[in-house]
Amino acid sequence: MTRTAAPKGVAVLGSTGSIGTTALRVLDRQRDRFRVNALTANSNGALLKEQARKFSPAFVGMVESQADADEAWKSGTDALIAAATRDDVDIVLNAIVGAAGLDATLAALHGGKRVALANKETLVIAGDLVRDACAEGFGEVVPVDSEHSAILQCITGHPTSQVRRVVLTASGGPFRDWSVERLAAATVDDALRHPTWRMGRKITIDSATLANKALEVIEAHFLFGLAYENIDVVVHPQSVVHSFVEFIDGSVVAQMSVPTMELPVLYALTHPERVPDDGVPAFDPVRLSPMTYESVDHARFPALRLGIAAGVAGGAAPAVFNAANECAVAAFLAGKIGFADIPRAISSALDKLSDLPARTREQLLDADAAARRHVREMFKC
Ligand code: NAD
Ligand code: MG
Repeated sequence: MTRTAAPKGVAVLGSTGSIGTTALRVLDRQRDRFRVNALTANSNGALLKEQARKFSPAFVGMVESQADADEAWKSGTDALIAAATRDDVDIVLNAIVGAAGLDATLAALHGGKRVALANKETLVIAGDLVRDACAEGFGEVVPVDSEHSAILQCITGHPTSQVRRVVLTASGGPFRDWSVERLAAATVDDALRHPTWRMGRKITIDSATLANKALEVIEAHFLFGLAYENIDVVVHPQSVVHSFVEFIDGSVVAQMSVPTMELPVLYALTHPERVPDDGVPAFDPVRLSPMTYESVDHARFPALRLGIAAGVAGGAAPAVFNAANECAVAAFLAGKIGFADIPRAISSALDKLSDLPARTREQLLDADAAARRHVREMFKC
């Protein structure tokens, strides 16, 4: 049978990053179903130019206006909103890193778009506002994060009332078997050496502290309406099972694949459908054996519990957790603080700032700014 439907228009925000370039590989294979109509990045004009030449989008935006930008490109943060709300865009793939992705998500949802969301920080900072934006604008969020894609793939066709519990898998990161003493002296290079995933620098550090898993627990709470006590985490170093869903009858369904982000990116574009694609390596359970599971050692990775507690506390706490983490990770990557200072910074910011008002976007961004100030003052950086 030949396909007759017009291709869906896609905006890729953060197209030069790890998820952005992965998404463009998928979209290149799926040109009869999707057309790239907008691309944005923060920097790296050379790569953005190459991508624009390959996909000929109607819109290209570069947030920081730099020497390597093309004259025709839009610049500034408005470019993100412009790309996310275009009439020729049906799906906004938000692959921006950090709080900078929030406004584009909200604008796209208000405009009735599907947001294929890699930018998990959006949901952590403003999960309630995202829910309201979906209701007001008739937009929808479909996760790109592999764990949440797995959960979505397992529960599609079932009401969430039939879900008893989900278990997010965590690779454990590069420091899974390091002692507390060794961890205190971990370098940036050590932390960037992730065993199973090649990703952007910020999320790679988040995976080493397990702050990433805390962000993902909060993300799961908002995406699937699950209570925090029904979201668990297990360490699974091989990253083959992307999460488990336990149903009310005790049956457990898991989604598996070799570790690749191409699959969750494609599924976020096509959900609830599946389409033929030959980008994912064949699944060979023998070669992928053994698959093992361990409990999280919270004493060595305190960021996970701090983040879950922030999620349970609600209000400004998740936004403070996220901003303190972003700021501390940037300081760690710049060589200004040690690895163990990251959870210290988060804990201190949460103690001081969790009760800030958090009803509106402006209040959440104020809490975000206060947390960043707090961390910078704490380390004089
Ligand atoms: P990355 O650093 O590789 O890429 C980030 C992209 O966002 C780049 O294109 C960059 O130009 C753009 N960007 C950065 N700052 C910006 C700003 N202030 N305004 C606008 N654009 C900006 O990051 P990544 O690893 O691709 O991660 C992107 C998001 O996806 C993160 O939220 C991350 O947690 C999530 N995620 C990533 C992976 C992965 O495998 N890399 C997996 C799951 C979820
Ligand atoms: Mg993930």
